Amino acid sequence: MSTAHGSATVLDGKALAKQIEQLLRTRVDAIKEKTGRTPSLATILVGEDPASATYVRMKGNACKRVGMDSIRVEMPSATTTEQLMAKIDELNNNPDVHGILLQHPVPSHIDERACFEQIDLAKDVDGVTCLGFGRMSMGESAYGSCTPQGIMHLLAHHDIELAGKQAVVVGRSPILGKPMAMMLLNANCTVTMCHSKTQDLAEYIKRADIVVGAVGVPELIKADWIKEGAVVIDAGFHPTDDSGVGDIEMRGVENIASAYTPVPGGVGPMTINTLIRQTVEAAEKSAGLI
Ligand code: NAP
Repeated sequence: MSTAHGSATVLDGKALAKQIEQLLRTRVDAIKEKTGRTPSLATILVGEDPASATYVRMKGNACKRVGMDSIRVEMPSATTTEQLMAKIDELNNNPDVHGILLQHPVPSHIDERACFEQIDLAKDVDGVTCLGFGRMSMGESAYGSCTPQGIMHLLAHHDIELAGKQAVVVGRSPILGKPMAMMLLNANCTVTMCHSKTQDLAEYIKRADIVVGAVGVPELIKADWIKEGAVVIDAGFHPTDDSGVGDIEMRGVENIASAYTPVPGGVGPMTINTLIRQTVEAAEKSAGLI
């Protein structure tokens, strides 16, 4: 990894995801050849939120690129918690489905947590169940939540040293901040979690060797808070007229950080890639191949 001032390593998630896809295609072909079955991801979209529809479409396209099937379930906004749980059960019991993705957020009248918990652990390839989170936290086998798992993959690919480093994760959501903190802790970082009630966020960021922005507020974390040589990971994406910005102000970060994720093209492609990789693994496990 290059660390010289002004020559930060770009943690290019798009390029890595492309490389991994090639390997996944080979694994999918092997599953088809050995079992006669095609690995399949079921996606569930409730309601008509255009951003969610786009994410689901992107996930379906990623399945296609590696030769997998995707089953797209669309349910109306008026769907009840019980109806959604029944649909999840149906997919749990379908041997042709290897992974289940419930696109979130679901409409607010639905008990999202209860629906996540309905997903069979073996098919929880998006890492959303409490059991999956608990197992991952304890270092037991489980599929990690895709965004933090994809970030860990990106860090490992670039040989970023984690042990003993001070990591600051900003955001504590169940799908991102919390599992991210557990993964970094399991990789022997000393982890601080910041959130909306944190006082003097800048002071925490200034001490961090690794900063993860997982907030959902455009450029909340300022470039001049970043410590010289830090590794900067931005999970956020907020479209702008010319492209988009993340949760971290990136202007000039290449002159301060030792490595950083571009926005877009850093964390996002790794999230989808992780979902597909975990579904392939679920298919391999269900076929007794691993
Ligand atoms: P979320 O559920 O809304 O959680 C946001 C977190 O940020 C909460 O823990 C909140 O704290 C914290 N927060 C909000 N304002 C803050 C502030 N001013 N100072 C410090 N912390 C603050 O969001 P999420 O689903 O985790 O997503 C976070 C970001 O990641 C978003 O930009 C989202 O678009 C992005 N994301 C990207 C991907 C991807 O594939 N690239 C996937 C998922 C999410 P409290 O807990 O105190 O409310």
